[in-house]
Amino acid sequence: MISKKDFKFKDRMIKGITEDGHFRVSVVKTTDVVKSAKERHNLSLLNTVLLGRALTGTMLMASELKGEERIQLRMEGKGPVKMLLAEANQVGEIRGYVANPQAHLDFSDGETSLGQGIGLGVLTVKKILYNEADPRTSVIELRKGNVTDDLAYYMVQSEQIPTAILLNVGIDEEGEVTQAGGVMVQKMPDAPEERIIELQEHLKDFPAINELLEDEQYIDEIMQKAVAPNPVKELNRTPVHFFCRCSRDRFKDALALLSYDELRDMKDEGQELVCHYCGEHYQIEKDEIEEIVEQAHARLN
Ligand SMILES: [Zn+2]
Repeated sequence: MISKKDFKFKDRMIKGITEDGHFRVSVVKTTDVVKSAKERHNLSLLNTVLLGRALTGTMLMASELKGEERIQLRMEGKGPVKMLLAEANQVGEIRGYVANPQAHLDFSDGETSLGQGIGLGVLTVKKILYNEADPRTSVIELRKGNVTDDLAYYMVQSEQIPTAILLNVGIDEEGEVTQAGGVMVQKMPDAPEERIIELQEHLKDFPAINELLEDEQYIDEIMQKAVAPNPVKELNRTPVHFFCRCSRDRFKDALALLSYDELRDMKDEGQELVCHYCGEHYQIEKDEIEEIVEQAHARLN
């Protein structure tokens, strides 16, 4: 049985708009999403924070999509993390991975910053939208590599939407994730220009989202505080989770796309396939591969 309190504090996203119609605001709690990413990919602390922010930020950006449209964020750079990828859709499915799960930085010199994990590089944002044959893709140079500043810059640069964004992953002394979450406030087209600056200033002094969650503040309260003193009305809320649509059948279908020769080479051993996105292992047995080989052979004739 899940207690009422546990239910209330499950990972969730809430969307709202200020009553004057000037700003939209989204708040997401991603504590279990980030814990799950850390566990599935055996992430170092550096990666837990960077990928955790990216998963949180991608979910906030996906809040404006429809149905099962998707957004994918990919950061590549010269730092030890090399590459991270996060993907989300509006129904609350989030997944992602990093190229080098054990990457770390030495912060003992007091000068090293989190952003050096990814380092100099680029951010690619891809949107897979309904009614568009090809994904919509934008590429910008990384601003700081800390994810938060890069996404805020992307919003202004590529989408021309003045945006304030906070992404936080809390880590305790044992190296465990305490809480994680984020908030995004965006100016609506007809809102006066100076209003977003006020709000950006207000959010600069805002506590880290993980600290508010550690204080047992609920996402509703955080949404109200984020745009205070403007009253805000809720538009919708949805549960979010680390979720990947991979399956044994999908991997088998992918195997069937290999050439007859490639398949013949692997049929004596069976194959263990691993999903990049979620770290799930699938053991495809010898006889299953044989069956695929036979089908491939039949195609040749
Ligand atoms: Zn998967």
